Amino acid sequence: MSSDLASQLSLDHGGTILLAVMDGVGDIPIPEFGGLTPLEKARTPNLDKLASAGALGQHLPVGRGITPGSGPGHLSIFGYDPVKYLVGRGALAALGIDFKLQHGDLAARINFCTLDSDGIVLDRRAGRISTELCIELVAALKPISIPGVEVFVEPVKEHRACVIFRGQGLSEGIHDTDPGLVGEKPLEITASAPGAELAVEAVSEFVRKASLILKDKSPANGLLLRGFALHEDFPTLTDLFKLNPAAVALYPMYRGVASLAGMEQYSSEPADLDGEVQAAKKALMDGRDFVFLHHKYTDSSGEDGDHKRKVAEIEKFDRAVPGLLDCGFDVICITGDHSTPCPMKLHSWHPVPVLIHGGPQRTGWSGRFTEREAAAGALGTFNGDELMPLMLAAAGRLAKFGA
Ligand code: ZN
Repeated sequence: MSSDLASQLSLDHGGTILLAVMDGVGDIPIPEFGGLTPLEKARTPNLDKLASAGALGQHLPVGRGITPGSGPGHLSIFGYDPVKYLVGRGALAALGIDFKLQHGDLAARINFCTLDSDGIVLDRRAGRISTELCIELVAALKPISIPGVEVFVEPVKEHRACVIFRGQGLSEGIHDTDPGLVGEKPLEITASAPGAELAVEAVSEFVRKASLILKDKSPANGLLLRGFALHEDFPTLTDLFKLNPAAVALYPMYRGVASLAGMEQYSSEPADLDGEVQAAKKALMDGRDFVFLHHKYTDSSGEDGDHKRKVAEIEKFDRAVPGLLDCGFDVICITGDHSTPCPMKLHSWHPVPVLIHGGPQRTGWSGRFTEREAAAGALGTFNGDELMPLMLAAAGRLAKFGA
């Protein structure tokens, strides 16, 4: 509701906004830290300063008790209803490598894997083969043709690639073929919903031909398919909020979700946080009024259960804050797309701290950017898709509702 109304009230002028996402930043108390969370344990002088000069709150990416993937987590903070706009990882992977998906394309992620002589999965990632080998394998699969359906195979990174089927009447109602564990055969291609007959036929034909091409290769002699997703036209942030948006992200999946939202991609040189800050600055100088910047490694360290590394990643982000301030955005928002508590080694449903700096704010309520202070902050607890209206309002980009 809030973002629909915000869409109607949005103005095509006003301040500029930076949305910096520390992926999976939210956490829970860590026993080894005496019950502090990584955000509380980290030394973050720059974030602390920003917290007291801005306002804190916490968002629920999808809803109470719901654990989101990174796709819905990001769409939510971009102002989309994450339940209505559900996007499969296959489509995100394809968009992330700048493949121009068309309306009705069916995309899936490929994992090259190692099979034994009976076709049993020995390694679901084929020992994380090099990206060079991935490109070679993809080149071998590119000639595959299927009557009535165009097929595109594209490399992503290491053992990951993606396949896109283009044709009339395809459907995403197909189960993954990845058994999810070793010691099993890849699963048959089966429909998960009615009306997927054409898609099942096309995908089965592709897998049959691909298996013949791969069977004598080593170490990757098989493939697993996951995340079938049909690409449908998607309103952009320009359509919804009259923004001219850009994205700076190092990983394909986040570039994918950003390009769904209509963000122009800016690449960072070097491919690290400093490069990302420079790219954000360039986007602003190019006249972009909304820039999304993604920091991945807070999530990876959470998923590895490495609380010390998560602290280090938060501190690394903190050191980038002065550079972000120097860019000259009117409003800076710092948050995460979900929580990834180290003790869980998984995404979780816990609310995510939010900091908004710039515009008229109830400042001085908070002194640090932490879960505890965010829960008591001036912005309160809100749904993830209400973050966009809050950022737009801070930037003076929302008109008054009613007379
Ligand atoms: Zn994430």
